[in-house]
Amino acid sequence: MAAQETVDHKYVYDFAEGNKELKELLGGKGANLAEMTNLGLPVPPGFTITTEACKAYLATGREPDGLADQIETHLESLERQMGRRLGDPQDPLLVSVRSGAKFSMPGMMETVLNVGLNDRSVVGLSNQAGGNDRFAWDSYRRLIQMFGKTVCEVPGEEFEHALDEAKRAKGTTNDLDLDADDLRGLVDAYKSIFLKHTGRDFPQEPREQLDLAIRAVFESWNAERAVLYRRQERIPADLGTAVNVVTMVFGNLGPDSGTGVAFTRDPGSGAQGIYGDYLANAQGEDVVAGIRNTVPLQELERLDKKSYDELLGIMARLEEHYKDLCDIEFTIERGKLWMLQTRVGKRTAAAAFVIAGQLVDEGLIDLDEALHRVNGAQLAQLMFPRFRLDHEFEPVAKGIGASPGAASGKVVFTSARAVELAAEGESVILVRRETNPDDLNGMIAAQGILTSRGGKTSHAAVVARGMGKTCVSGADDIEVNVPAKRFTVAGQTVTEGDVVSIDGTTGKVYLGEVPVMPSEVVQYFEGSLDPEHVDNALVRAVHRIMSHADAKRQLAVRTNADTGADAARARRFGAEGIGLCRTEHMFLGDRRELVEKLILARTDDERESALAALLPLQRDDFKEIFREMDGLPVTVRLIDPPLHEFLPPLEQLAVNVAVAQERGEDVAKEEALLAAVRRMHEENPMLGLRGVRLGLVIPGLFAMQVRAIAEAAVSVTRDGAVAKPEIMVPLVGAVQELETVRAEAEKIIAEVVGDSGVEVLIGTMIEVPRAALTAGQIAEAAQFFSFGTNDLTQMAWGFSRDDVEGAFFWRYLELGIFGISPFESIDRDGVGRLVRIAAEEGRAARPELKLGVCGEHGGDPDSVHFFHEVGLDYVSCSPFRVPVARLEAGRAAVETDGSDSR
Ligand code: ADP
Ligand code: MG
Ligand code: MG
Repeated sequence: MAAQETVDHKYVYDFAEGNKELKELLGGKGANLAEMTNLGLPVPPGFTITTEACKAYLATGREPDGLADQIETHLESLERQMGRRLGDPQDPLLVSVRSGAKFSMPGMMETVLNVGLNDRSVVGLSNQAGGNDRFAWDSYRRLIQMFGKTVCEVPGEEFEHALDEAKRAKGTTNDLDLDADDLRGLVDAYKSIFLKHTGRDFPQEPREQLDLAIRAVFESWNAERAVLYRRQERIPADLGTAVNVVTMVFGNLGPDSGTGVAFTRDPGSGAQGIYGDYLANAQGEDVVAGIRNTVPLQELERLDKKSYDELLGIMARLEEHYKDLCDIEFTIERGKLWMLQTRVGKRTAAAAFVIAGQLVDEGLIDLDEALHRVNGAQLAQLMFPRFRLDHEFEPVAKGIGASPGAASGKVVFTSARAVELAAEGESVILVRRETNPDDLNGMIAAQGILTSRGGKTSHAAVVARGMGKTCVSGADDIEVNVPAKRFTVAGQTVTEGDVVSIDGTTGKVYLGEVPVMPSEVVQYFEGSLDPEHVDNALVRAVHRIMSHADAKRQLAVRTNADTGADAARARRFGAEGIGLCRTEHMFLGDRRELVEKLILARTDDERESALAALLPLQRDDFKEIFREMDGLPVTVRLIDPPLHEFLPPLEQLAVNVAVAQERGEDVAKEEALLAAVRRMHEENPMLGLRGVRLGLVIPGLFAMQVRAIAEAAVSVTRDGAVAKPEIMVPLVGAVQELETVRAEAEKIIAEVVGDSGVEVLIGTMIEVPRAALTAGQIAEAAQFFSFGTNDLTQMAWGFSRDDVEGAFFWRYLELGIFGISPFESIDRDGVGRLVRIAAEEGRAARPELKLGVCGEHGGDPDSVHFFHEVGLDYVSCSPFRVPVARLEAGRAAVETDGSDSR
């Protein structure tokens, strides 16, 4: 019955039938080829096989019914249009078979060029090219190489070795020195390699080549590195890839041909202008692979003015049409320009802000759209420090600043070693001649990537930019010797484990560790750079977009801060209050002794005197924070951790006691501590005597804290500031717990506050699932809720946070049980549902109830969007994340379509 349904399914679209909105179905590449075709741009004719076909193939392991026929029909029509038949011995039509998913996945999926060549049509191709044998045999050897590698999994190095061998025999290092005979010999060598690895001859039947290539593209969706990239980029696993079949055009037909890539603006800085690389007499993959060194695109003006002018015209048109930075791939075949790809180009974080600002200036987009086009992850990147460069630091090499940032680390030469060292906590720089998709693991593990070949559009550059990783590419003074695990530069040898520093903005490479300096964006946030006066396009763009985000957002942004210094910094970053002030640190340091006294107290007197001694210290802490947050709300959480956390660890105490006894010293105090630690031991401390339970069990503990808060508020207010304390009770699961604490607190507050005008709110964390589920009751006793999403996640999933991430999350991620740790980004369906229930029922019971979140999710972009949707009043996050949360809250407010924030 499934067969019945699919018979009429349309699986193949001619380029003329698609458009750029059909990315889901045609993939990004296919949709944009169609868009360019319909714009009347010179795109070689072809067709796209849909992601639906791919999904059907992957689900059943065979091509869906009707697909083969539809391909046949479209191929025939292509053949008619071109006046050539696929692989025809006299006058062959050749095609490329190209993958292309909804989201661009550079280098992940595979492309096969020159499909349709065989022992006979290679002669026909030569004739087509006016007897250019060299070209024909070069094309054929490329087909066998790409087909072997991507379709039949023949190890790519084998072909590389054979090519190197042919060059060595010829006494050259340049591909172009190989003549037709050399290449014919190389084809024979390639065929033997193919046979050796696959047990069959290289397929001579053009249609079989095509079908096998299409199938291989389908299957590459589930290739290991594609799966890994998707997980990294949070691309859903079930989209599938489309397959594009495109008439071949040839950039390797001689000096009047060539191929290149270009950006309509600088993807590194966002500066306007033409940026690209061009390579004469080459096929497209050569540029991307960085095999030969390219020339800047501007050179093309000299080489082929007509094509250059046409290209510039097309680029301007594309920008206007897409209203964004585009990147393109093109080929010139004997003076005729062909467009092979375009897409809205990837860009660095800085460029994203700068370009969004420029496009607003140019009237192409409005500020809402500009806000939509940047994101919190990019902003976070811009807040990274950069190298501080004094005269002492002389670069040893300069490559291309391919992905900005500053990175120092130990040099490694293989992906495996990068992963190993990173797992040991080392920061590493992965050094390669050029990277390829197999290096992905190493690139993820590394702090930075350094290559000696390739331009801004090489694999290393593109992937690093996508990951926000520092990368210098094409540092060609560096001689990389991977087997020997070393590189040489400027007469020096750097071996594995030596430290180097790379600057992904300038492309400079330094030996040793270079110190870093703060980012300009941070300086702007801190108020030391005035965006109105500074000549810095980035700072101005950030200021403009942040201001718009602030104007649009409905969520307030607070910070988590435990000290006056943190509070002050967060306030400069735009925090509108403190959402979580932990009081635990007030029990540490020189106060440990008092806390020990408190814990060991055997009589009421002993306990009360310990508390009385702690009171003024806490009061001073609060005063400092209230002063810094003058006029803004400060949520103070009463003591939360189990008290034994404030005592020395059991083993250490046991040793101390034993040693002291040996020496015949007085061990009464140590013994008492040891006994207390033993007594207080818990199997599951996170579920034990902590939070509100402490307040209910230890008389006077919460009372002391409440008094310290109220007294500090009154004192600060008397000094002319405005203190807005909010007392937060942790770990409440039942309204009775809160009522008990509240009754005691209110008495103290009333007594301390008197007629000072200070208002103290009392509320609770919602972090125990039962609290979320009984939020209607709890709201009766709470003036605010703050979702503690760390504990809520921990208890909703039954995950012990400190254990599970290292123990088995990798497996859960691998199995796709979740795409990202629920501690990192809120689990909307489960934990999120608890938040929703509590928000709704809490507000129903008490409409003026204030709702916030203070878990680490408060600074996570996706989670911020969720909290906006739920309608919380604020999120609270670490000071450094405050700008990120402001930006994302603004984005959430302007994104009405609910589209993803990627
Ligand atoms: P990727 O997604 O890795 O960029 P592509 O499918 O774009 O892979 O193809 C790889 C290279 O081959 C690109 O440089 C592209 O321009 C070139 N190419 C693809 N199809 C054709 C074609 N029909 N004629 C000439 N070059 C092509
Ligand atoms: Mg491409
Ligand atoms: Mg908690």
